[in-house]
Amino acid sequence: MQPKPNIVNLPVYQPGKPVEDVKRELGLTEVVKLASNENPFGSSPKAKEAAIRELDNVSIYPDGAAVELTKALAEHHGVDPDQIVFGAGSDELILMICRAYLGAGDETIMANETFPQYKHNATIENATVIEVPMKEGTHDLYAMQERVTDKTKVVWVCNPNNPTGTMNAADEVEWFLSKVPSNVLVVLDEAYCEYIDDPSYPDGLALLKKYPNVILLRTFSKIYGLASLRIGYGIGRPEVVRTINQVRGPFNTTRVAQAAALAALQDQSFIAFCREENKKGLAYLNGKFAELGIKALPAYGNFVMVDVKRPAQDVFEALLRKGVIVRAGHKQSPTSIRITVGSQEQNEKVIAALTSVLDEIAAKV
Ligand code: PMP
Repeated sequence: MQPKPNIVNLPVYQPGKPVEDVKRELGLTEVVKLASNENPFGSSPKAKEAAIRELDNVSIYPDGAAVELTKALAEHHGVDPDQIVFGAGSDELILMICRAYLGAGDETIMANETFPQYKHNATIENATVIEVPMKEGTHDLYAMQERVTDKTKVVWVCNPNNPTGTMNAADEVEWFLSKVPSNVLVVLDEAYCEYIDDPSYPDGLALLKKYPNVILLRTFSKIYGLASLRIGYGIGRPEVVRTINQVRGPFNTTRVAQAAALAALQDQSFIAFCREENKKGLAYLNGKFAELGIKALPAYGNFVMVDVKRPAQDVFEALLRKGVIVRAGHKQSPTSIRITVGSQEQNEKVIAALTSVLDEIAAKV
């Protein structure tokens, strides 16, 4: 059996190490995982209650179109229900966008240090991936629009960008959209948008009204704290949403996920709490990085990329031995690690561990 030639060398996704594995392998009793941009405060208790209630119905297939959740989200965002499509996480929306819009001979444009699933899924569809160098960890939208050709089908703008955490401001994104031809789909991945209250952050919904070729990606995995239930959504023009629905599996989001997402959406006070705590956490971490003399990129989501000025893999492993899991392995930033903003207690632990790791490595040099 031979798979398609373009996937022969495709890596299998390597998730961060699970906490239980790290505890067992290193004989640790306490491990702090700040590696996957998960919500340190969990999810709204109301979402948990709704999920538990829905367990009574697991023998029944879910509503494939998630009608009730669609209606609530449409009201929440001020869009029509036919503008919303769900995925098993926004990961699945990325997959479906590639499946629907990309094939051999098509080009797709993205930054050279961005969310890896864009490239991964575009490669599976045999499309040509154009990776455009970033400017100080931020999408270079000018250079990206220069790479648009008549073969370009999809452009990806991750805002704020994972893993760098940086943001492209509204005026830049609007300029970019005014330059990109209207037959090119522009994906604005806003997985972390609920964390942001900076007035210069683009209003994706307003952009969508003006530019029909935009699709916004949102998720319940981050600030809503439902990563394990796998539910995200796209907001676009009805014709784009219909195209994605054509390639969507019939029951791609579960009853439990839909019920929990609906309850989570209705508990906006939990979201406001998480946003405030995240802001405090980021300020604390940035203050400590400055004391340590290491430079962090400006962070807008619930994670921060910091240049530890030593090989990131060494720092990652040394932190792991102290029971702290972060993320290394960023191809354009071999001396940078990405740290998720945790609770204050977790943030203090990561800073204490990082301080001693940097001292240890410095002493060895
Ligand atoms: N987009 C971005 C930018 C992300 O960081 C992530 C998760 N790490 C996703 C999409 C996918 O998230 P999910 O599938 O859990 O919605």
